[in-house]
Amino acid sequence: MTSSKIEMPGEVKADPAALMASLHLLPSPTLNLEIKYTKIFINNEWQNSESGRIFPVYNPATGEQICEIEEADKVDTDKAVRAARLAFSLGSVWRRMDASERGHLLDKLADLVERDRAILATMESLNSGKPFLQAFYVDLQGVVKTLRYYAGWADKIHGMTIPVDGDYFTFTRHEPIGVCGQIIPWNFPLLMFAWKIAPALCCGNTVVIKPAEQTPLSALYMGALIKEAGFPPGVVNILPGFGPIVGAAIASHVGIDKIAFTGSTEVGKLIQEAAGRSNLKRVTLELGGKSPNIIFADADLDYAVEQAHQGVFFNQGQCCTAGSRIYVEESIYEEFVRRSVERAKRRVVGSPFDPTTEQGPQIFGPVQEILSFKTMDEVIERANNSDFGLVAAVFTNDINKALTVSSAMQAGTVWINCYNALNAQSPFGGFKMSGNGREMGECGLREYSEVKTVTIKIPQKNS
Ligand code: NAD
Repeated sequence: MTSSKIEMPGEVKADPAALMASLHLLPSPTLNLEIKYTKIFINNEWQNSESGRIFPVYNPATGEQICEIEEADKVDTDKAVRAARLAFSLGSVWRRMDASERGHLLDKLADLVERDRAILATMESLNSGKPFLQAFYVDLQGVVKTLRYYAGWADKIHGMTIPVDGDYFTFTRHEPIGVCGQIIPWNFPLLMFAWKIAPALCCGNTVVIKPAEQTPLSALYMGALIKEAGFPPGVVNILPGFGPIVGAAIASHVGIDKIAFTGSTEVGKLIQEAAGRSNLKRVTLELGGKSPNIIFADADLDYAVEQAHQGVFFNQGQCCTAGSRIYVEESIYEEFVRRSVERAKRRVVGSPFDPTTEQGPQIFGPVQEILSFKTMDEVIERANNSDFGLVAAVFTNDINKALTVSSAMQAGTVWINCYNALNAQSPFGGFKMSGNGREMGECGLREYSEVKTVTIKIPQKNS
């Protein structure tokens, strides 16, 4: 999920002969992968669950059990929150650490992820079912770029001096919020982990994070790397377990100051409600979508067909950004449908570890709805006629149409002549029921800091 100059899965597959010829150049999965980290991570230590409960984790491609994981519940959440609060207390190592050193630790974590990239990509593929090459090139690259981007911000978060009325000097400080609860989904387990912890740590917060119950393996491995990088104990705590148990305990915990959630709109509503009922903790929600992709007749047809295909099929279609409502201008509609069907039939479904595989095991699936439209006004109205507003795309060679549509779309991101071009540097989030707040980019820093105004009385010489 990044637009940098890496090959996207569809492009890797575009020429199977070239792919087969260059197989020796491609990264390989780690053979006989050992799953070392299966416990709860609190205070930089691996701990058993207080209840003694464990839960199985499966390989979705084969249905085989990979391992068993210690299951966190409310009691373990209390322990993790105590550790995170202590790590955040005034005078702690973390609170006294120079901002530049926080950045250095994030950079070091990125180095360790790069060192273990093949292991992490193998684990991600094994546990989530996404093709190994996608995990290696797209997800892992996104993780490293996110960590490095926020590493760079750590010592550049400035307040302001403000010319207030009267004999006062006023300045602002951007301070960390405190303990951040973070809950993430199974479709991009490692990338979502990085999107959550990187801005939170950059701003000086501490973290209690819950990976999805289906995909805890890469998050737990990150716990080991976080410790190895040198983050002080309690700064990051990882609680594997189930949403209604440990997720709900995080959302309603009065020792947690902010919650960031990525997942379904349905659960997002529960999170917001729990935050309101408990301590009005700050809330950021990144939720689902039903995103429109508008294709005008003047667009490059082959390119638009391929982009629309990847827009809905990428990551098995298991994407919040999936462009599932495709509006095609009437004059090219029949041909667009014909080529799209042809492309979908060519999609290679198979083992995630086969380099020719484009699509691994399915959970929820890509449904490419292709609709026709006659006028720009009509398509704008229809595209916006949704409760969601995560992303939108438009394909055209007419800059006026592109700008008119992009300014009219009720969506947090609009792509012109591209799809899924996500970057660490640009904000991401939803309008309407697709979420609250923005992650990534400079905007992401605001979601993890409080602004404090400090006003000083200036003594007058003659008073
Ligand atoms: P989900 O909402 O079921 O689960 C997401 C997380 O919430 C999991 O960790 C789960 O354990 C936890 N959870 C479940 N019930 C909970 C509860 N009652 N209290 C607290 N936590 C609870 O979503 P999913 O099916 O795992 O993930 C796919 C969804 O995520 C899709 O809707 C997709 O669109 C969305 N998503 C959004 C973004 C984005 O940035 N907007 C990115 C990726 C995925």
